[in-house]
Amino acid sequence: MVTYFNGDYVADDDAKISVRSRAINYGLGCFGGIRGYLADDGQQVLVFRLADHVTRLQRSAAVIFLRLPGTHAEISEILLELVRRNEVHHDVYLRPLVFSNSERLAPVLREEDSFFVAYSMPLRRYIDKECIDVCVSSWRRVSDNAIPARVKPTGLYLNSALARREAFDNGYDEAIFLTETGKVSEGSAEHIFIARRGVLYSPPSTEDNLDGITRRSIIDLAADLGIPFTERSIGRSELYTSDEMFLCGTGAEITPVRSVDRRVLGDGGIGPLTKRLQTYFADVVRGRVERRRDWLTPVWA
Ligand code: PMP
Repeated sequence: MVTYFNGDYVADDDAKISVRSRAINYGLGCFGGIRGYLADDGQQVLVFRLADHVTRLQRSAAVIFLRLPGTHAEISEILLELVRRNEVHHDVYLRPLVFSNSERLAPVLREEDSFFVAYSMPLRRYIDKECIDVCVSSWRRVSDNAIPARVKPTGLYLNSALARREAFDNGYDEAIFLTETGKVSEGSAEHIFIARRGVLYSPPSTEDNLDGITRRSIIDLAADLGIPFTERSIGRSELYTSDEMFLCGTGAEITPVRSVDRRVLGDGGIGPLTKRLQTYFADVVRGRVERRRDWLTPVWA
């Protein structure tokens, strides 16, 4: 396997940086996470919403004063070429990452220290369970006024990792963050939808959460299916009293939630709206839905 390493495609084992790098010492970087899906022909790989992911990466980098080594089209091509060079004919996850590779002391952000890498790996499921048990974390989501939570800075993920660790230690599969003011924010790496009386709800991207690409896609897919959707703040106990809940993200796709803080939702299985969206989403990402084909970039000519 090869990794794109600041200008070259090198063997994975040769893609190494110094322990002195500011990226390691201070978490100065930002990244993307993109999925490619094997099409039904068993050969073609369809990258899901590549253009939106590259745009978000550009915005992330700009927010933290890092520079990508090319235009939107050039970054997209680096990622597609990575998949080709790795001879990928399976479900794949792509990780572009730009970071400060200065080896000098003190956390300082400077465009000229930017270092861009991208690697790929096979990925089927991110959360390996049909239906998960989640808890509300004792950790609060980092405020967007402390670390920009709307984009994807590497350092922000200490917050996610602490919450996940606590959740696992307490026997849960995933953690749900509240904001400092107590509104539902997001999971450690997923957005949240609940359903009540046939209507889907999800908090807006002003609740210290990421501007999510899967979340936006699901809002569009709900419209395709005629499922009503409302974007609004969600309180903690609404999670307990919802009929259905699911998490979504590039990794998590659509992951149904069975219980929140040991309160079982609905009849404890996958709810009907969740099931419909899951099935439709799977069809869309594998290229079976004509009207959503423009979300997919084929890797192979
Ligand atoms: N929230 C966080 C903190 C994440 O890291 C991710 C994964 N990128 C998500 C939500 C899901 O966002 P997306 O659908 O854009 O992958």
